[in-house]
Amino acid sequence: MSRGAAFIPPGATLGVLGGGQLGRMFAQAAQSAGYGVAVLEADEAAPAAQVTGIHLAARYDDPLALDQLARDCAAVTVEFENIPAASLQWLDARVPLAPAPQSVAICQDRAQEKALFTRLGVPCAPHAVLRAGSDGSVVDADLFPGILKTARLGYDGKGQISVACAADLPAARAALGGVDCVLEKRLDLAYELSVVMARGRDGSTVLFAPQQNLHRNGILFASFSPGPAITPEIAAAAQNAAGAVAQGLDYVGVLCVEFFVLRDGRLLANEIAPRPHNSGHHTIDSCTVSQFELQWRALVNAPLLAPRQHSATVMLNLLGDLWFDAAGHQREPDWAAVLAQPGAHLHLYGKHAPRKGRKMGHLTCTAATPDEARQAALHACAILGLEPFQDETAPSLAVLAAPEGGVSSFGTAVRN
Ligand code: ADP
Ligand code: MG
Repeated sequence: MSRGAAFIPPGATLGVLGGGQLGRMFAQAAQSAGYGVAVLEADEAAPAAQVTGIHLAARYDDPLALDQLARDCAAVTVEFENIPAASLQWLDARVPLAPAPQSVAICQDRAQEKALFTRLGVPCAPHAVLRAGSDGSVVDADLFPGILKTARLGYDGKGQISVACAADLPAARAALGGVDCVLEKRLDLAYELSVVMARGRDGSTVLFAPQQNLHRNGILFASFSPGPAITPEIAAAAQNAAGAVAQGLDYVGVLCVEFFVLRDGRLLANEIAPRPHNSGHHTIDSCTVSQFELQWRALVNAPLLAPRQHSATVMLNLLGDLWFDAAGHQREPDWAAVLAQPGAHLHLYGKHAPRKGRKMGHLTCTAATPDEARQAALHACAILGLEPFQDETAPSLAVLAAPEGGVSSFGTAVRN
């Protein structure tokens, strides 16, 4: 519903659906500018629930809680894409909501994301959509070896299985519960990157520079900004593609598009998040305007200021694994040593139960140059007992072929 274009001044209450760390950092950013924040989240101890003035402890489809959110809030956003569509539509009819339910619905579903990329002419991985109960025997042999991904609800590599050949497909589909899936060809990745951007109700658009992302076991391990392997051509192509996606969705709010860069130099879109993204957390400490500030600015119709990056950064995710020693006994990481490091910005999300693979916080290492940020992050890895990343982002990766057909074969000019 296109309404709510008037500026909402500080003092108003903004609502957020979802109470994880993204909601917490959104709330902290909005609160620092004088906005109140209400969160809808069932978990009493959730990261965002700890910091917001109003916590509606209910499910995302609770009619009373949704009604209160609509009455208390001047505008509402999401920190989590898997909010039921019916709840978003109900809210959209009553209170300014950004992003729109239709944008969120597309980002909830890998099959719809792929269809959007195809419609917009943004290259993505060769794939096939396998609907629940459909015959998978006709799948193109060229998609193997592949990765079978549930169309919905996957995150941090969950809901994905490698499939070596067509004969393994039925068992893989069964293992994922027989739900709608997308089979993607396994690609020969040189590296990964993402573009975080914001778009206002008036179509004004600002973009951060792409960051280079290193995943381990399907989970983001580190983000580098600037990325050692990202050429200006790849950066421009990724920003153009992200801009085209935002414009194609008539998107309002903060959006992230993840990309793969293949060893042959091609840039392919991977997936879209209709919200700030883990890879953009460094912007809190490295830029004049963070991704969370842009989220509330887009929501209250304040000008979207173009961010200027003042520091080079490497962001390290702090997973629950760090809270366990080699023998599996729980311990506390050596925060005193981390905090003694100049340029190290510690962000912990207030999660009480560390579990392996659980995102407990992140550490952003800022410095005057990319090399210094990299050295600082390697030092932090040594303190925390993290496997260093020396070879995985080697600068030699920057020597890659230009993407076929030039860099601006698709995409729409974006206003910056
Ligand atoms: P999630 O929702 O878990 O982030 P992704 O589709 O982004 O799901 O997959 C997680 C990670 O797995 C990616 O960032 C990438 O490292 C790897 N991956 C996913 N798809 C492919 C692919 N088709 N080829 C090679 N690696 C892939
Ligand atoms: Mg991903």
